[in-house]
Amino acid sequence: MDLGLKDRVAVITGSARGIGAETARMLAQEGMAVVISDLDLDAADATARGIEAAGGKAIAVQCDVRDEEQVRKMMAAGHEAFGGIDVLVNNAGLVKDRTILKMDEADWDLVLGVTLKGAFHCCRAALPFMHAKGWGRIINISSRALFGNPGQANYSTAKAGLVGFTRALSLEQARKGVTVNAIAPGYIETEYIKSLPNYDTILENVIAKNAVTFPGQTSDIAGAVAFMASEHARYITGTTLFVTGGRYG
Ligand code: NDP
Repeated sequence: MDLGLKDRVAVITGSARGIGAETARMLAQEGMAVVISDLDLDAADATARGIEAAGGKAIAVQCDVRDEEQVRKMMAAGHEAFGGIDVLVNNAGLVKDRTILKMDEADWDLVLGVTLKGAFHCCRAALPFMHAKGWGRIINISSRALFGNPGQANYSTAKAGLVGFTRALSLEQARKGVTVNAIAPGYIETEYIKSLPNYDTILENVIAKNAVTFPGQTSDIAGAVAFMASEHARYITGTTLFVTGGRYG
């Protein structure tokens, strides 16, 4: 099946590793040029070189998505290298888990800042490039945690907020040829999660709550992103796709 993505350009934030890196690799395999952007330039560069070694097109850019100036420079670098920005995947995110009385203001600001202000800056910087071509895709990586998890008041708030942001933007942008959707992953095994000392217990708990009895992989999210970015998803906007192994709430 041709996804219609060949020669289009994608920016994926927080894509040095994990879900973002796998998404970049899959989009590059579909013939897209990809901008690997992350806080850690060396790691982003290694991911970009891996994509190039496999025959893909990629550049690495250092960018803290909370910083509007850095975000604008990242989009400009993508445009300069590849001639536009067609797909934006707002993937950068992090957790700072604590119950509410132990959670300090910095933990709250950091998680909401990266998730929500980061998406705000990235969309505002990418949209003019999409409007120039009358075509674009914005895909926001939310989380099943939007339903609420103990110890994650900041993360659950941010990921639920991202869904509201997605809905509002989808209504604003549809007539300009830009769709805006969210993907809410459930538990997805990244190298980092696999390296945790209590990995076996985490996995056992996850499987007990899922309908599907195996853990999600980064390629499960990358595949959902590729579909949402494709021509096959042209009539889908403002939705949230749950890739959770059948767990809701
Ligand atoms: P990772 O921590 O492996 O990757 C996230 C990346 O985002 C890291 O490379 C990190 O950089 C980067 N990042 C953090 N802060 C910033 C910032 N201010 N600006 C730019 N980049 C930043 O996470 P995952 O791959 O597991 O998750 C990717 C997305 O998927 C996140 O939004 C996450 O919330 C979401 N998600 C993940 C799930 C899972 O089970 N894995 C489940 C549900 C949602 P650095 O490492 O240098 O700090």
